Amino acid sequence: MTQTTLNHTQTVSGWAAHDASGIITPYVFKRRENGENDVTIEILYCGICHTDIHHVKNDWGITMYPVVPGHEITGLITKVGSNVSKFKIGDRVGVGCLAASCLRCDFCKQEEENYCDEIQLTYNGIFWDGSITYGGYSKMLVADHRFVVKVPESLPMDAAAPLLCAGITVYSPFKDHNLLDSPGKKIGIVGLGGLGHVAIKFGKAFGHHVTVISTSPSKEKEARERLGADDFIISTDPQQMQSKFRTLDFILDTVSAHHSLGPTLELLKVKGTLMLVGAPDKPVDLPAFPMIFGKRAVKGSMTGSMKETQEMLDVCAKHNIRCDIEVVKSDQINEALDRLARNDVKYRFVIDIAGKP
Ligand code: NAP
Ligand code: ZN
Repeated sequence: MTQTTLNHTQTVSGWAAHDASGIITPYVFKRRENGENDVTIEILYCGICHTDIHHVKNDWGITMYPVVPGHEITGLITKVGSNVSKFKIGDRVGVGCLAASCLRCDFCKQEEENYCDEIQLTYNGIFWDGSITYGGYSKMLVADHRFVVKVPESLPMDAAAPLLCAGITVYSPFKDHNLLDSPGKKIGIVGLGGLGHVAIKFGKAFGHHVTVISTSPSKEKEARERLGADDFIISTDPQQMQSKFRTLDFILDTVSAHHSLGPTLELLKVKGTLMLVGAPDKPVDLPAFPMIFGKRAVKGSMTGSMKETQEMLDVCAKHNIRCDIEVVKSDQINEALDRLARNDVKYRFVIDIAGKP
C-alpha cells in the first residue's frame, strides 16, 4: 500500500518487524514529501516502549506488517512547510504517539485530540493518504507540525525521548486528577518500568507520598534511594498488601501483562480512583466487591494531548525530570526488546538512531 502512494518519494532507512516473531531487521521504505503543514525531522533518539513489543509480536491482533515501531522520538528539524511558523530548521523537537487527528471534532477543538475518533497514530496507523504510518525506528520522519513539540534546551535528547510516550501517559492522569498543585496525597504506582519510573518522579516533584506496588523485590533499593519512592510493597505478598489497606488516594496501574485489579483496589481509600494506563492483551480481572464496598472508580487514559505534552516537557525542564535510560545502538534493538520483555531494564531503552551501529 505505502510503496504506491503518489507523493511518497523519500527513501528512508529504518528497522521493522515482518511477522509475529517480532524480530527486527533493517528496512528501507518511503515517506511522503514534506507538505505545507509538515516538518521533516532527522531522528536522533527513539525510546523502546512496551507498546512496541505488543505491536511487533501482534499481542493486540492489530499489527500491519512490516511494522516500523517507535513513538518516543527526538530529533532536529531539517525542513519546514510553508504553513509552519512555529518551527525553524535546527529546532530540537519531539514526536510521540499521535500523527494526526480530524482537527474538527469537539475533542480536537478542546485540545483533547488524543480522544478524536479519527486519530492517526505515529506507527501502525493509516494516514489520510492511505499509507501505513512508520515510526521512529528510522532515520527520518515527516510529521504534521501540529503533532510536534519543542524539547526544552535543558533536557538531553536521549533522556527526554521516553517522555514523549511514557512521560505524557503518566503526566496526563496526574493532571486529570488535580495532582499537579495539591501536594500531600498518597499515590500508588503499580509496575516499576518505563512508565512507572517517570510516574514516581512526577509524584515526588508534585509533593506526594509515593508507594510503589511491584512484583520485583530487586527494584526496592533503587526505587527508594534513586527514584525517591517513599514506600515499596510486593504485590504478591498478601501481608505487605494488607499493610496498605485503604491508605491510598490514587493509583496508577502501568502493568503490561494480565493481572487482577482486585488486590490493588483494596489499597484505595473509599472513593479512591484506580487509573489504568497499562494495556495487557487479555482483559484484566475486575471483581465487583472492592469497587462496591469502597465506592471506588476504575478509569483508563490514553497518552495525552499535544498541549499537555508540551506542558509536560516544560514541567520536566523546570523540575529537572528526565528518564533513566540505557542507550543502545541500532544493531542491539532485538536484544533490547528481548530484555524489556523479560523485565530487565532500568528503566527505558533508547535507540541511538543517528549513531553508527
Ligand atoms: P515496562 O517498562 O515493561 O513496565 C511494565 C512493568 O509492569 C514492569 O516493569 C513490571 O514492573 C510490571 N509487570 C510486568 N509483568 C507483570 C506481571 N505479569 N504482573 C504484574 N506486573 C508486571 O512497560 P511500559 O513501557 O512502562 O508500558 C507499560 C504498559 O503501558 C504496556 O502495556 C504499554 O503498552 C502500556 N502503555 C499505554 C499507554 C497509554 O496511552 N495508555 C502508553 C504507553 C504505554 P515490576 O517489576 O515493578 O512488577
Ligand atoms: Zn509508548
